[in-house]
Amino acid sequence: MKKLQMVDLKSQYEKIQTQVNEAVINVIQSTAFINGPEVKGLQEDMESYLDVKHVIPCANGTDALQIAMMGLGLEQGDEVITVDFTFAATVEVIALLKLTPVLVDVDADTFNINIEALKKAITPKTKAIVPVHLFGQCANMEAVLEVAKEHNLFVIEDTAQAIGADYTFKDGSTKKAGTIGNIGTTSFFPSKNLGCYGDGGAIFTNDDDLAHIIRGIVNHGMYKRYYHDVVGVNSRLDSVQAAILRIKLPLLDGYCDARRKAAAYYSAGFSASDKIITPITADYTTHVFHQYTLQIVGADRDALHAHLNENNIPNAIYYPVPLHSQKAYADERYNEGDFAVTNQLIKTVISLPMHTELEEEQQDYIINTILNFIK
Ligand SMILES: *Cc1c(COP(=O)(O)O)cnc(C)c1O
Repeated sequence: MKKLQMVDLKSQYEKIQTQVNEAVINVIQSTAFINGPEVKGLQEDMESYLDVKHVIPCANGTDALQIAMMGLGLEQGDEVITVDFTFAATVEVIALLKLTPVLVDVDADTFNINIEALKKAITPKTKAIVPVHLFGQCANMEAVLEVAKEHNLFVIEDTAQAIGADYTFKDGSTKKAGTIGNIGTTSFFPSKNLGCYGDGGAIFTNDDDLAHIIRGIVNHGMYKRYYHDVVGVNSRLDSVQAAILRIKLPLLDGYCDARRKAAAYYSAGFSASDKIITPITADYTTHVFHQYTLQIVGADRDALHAHLNENNIPNAIYYPVPLHSQKAYADERYNEGDFAVTNQLIKTVISLPMHTELEEEQQDYIINTILNFIK
């Protein structure tokens, strides 16, 4: 059996090695390392894949979130609502910009924003909502958009874990994750579903004015060379990464299919156990399984975690601490009772190896080890 890994980037690379190596060498020989033709090319390829008017590449997914908030003109004291159960980057940039993060609970079945909690958290100071499409499926965007419209709020979709997922509206129309709100952001971190070979990220919007503002912000606030109209940042995707991403983007739908197939195989394997809740896919979204995350109920999750580690089966707890309990983000405004689901999930979740190169033999071994331990 091939060695088990959370993410097998090497095997994936080996299948595209010739094209990738050639593309990287071409960039090096061109010496157009920054803002070269490959970056423009990726931008256009992604605009067409996502069916969105503007894609603005940047240095990473955290920057993408920060720049999105800067572009919207959010100011100190503005409240930005996001979820308690996500990677810290989402709340980090809110705090960094001196905006006020307001964390809300999630739904236990989808791990995504709870709409009632969202409604309850709105105050006259609320300016934006950041739904996170966690683990690979979209949040309930139609409901989020309704709330946003009613209260005149911006919606920034954190699509770092769900690039390629499709959202279906009640009228049957569909949009790609990240192109539904005012702005979408993503990350090309190597282990993400569309990963480059270093750091990278991007911002999406259909709003021409916002796109213009953001293109300046990513480049030191310059709209004309050496004229700085706004305070900006230096956040660029480099040409080598763009060239690699241009090879991987056409493969993304196939990568998503491979992940869904692996997820279905796991879920079939675990279906007989009443101590394991397998991930569901909400009816308004496809799932691209950035993570395959079980909830262990009626058995000891931590003991399973230790057992898998002893048996060299990679696994991870995403996430072990709710954001509202993290030292950096704790706040006396919060009541534990408002985070009942997240407080439970951190004790029950466990994520298994999930990537495009998983083999059934590997999955059988993982499934059997878990079932034998949990009984
Ligand atoms: C990975 C991730 C980010 C940050 O992306 P980086 O490219 O690592 O900065 C932001 N939000 C979520 C939900 C993520 O999973």
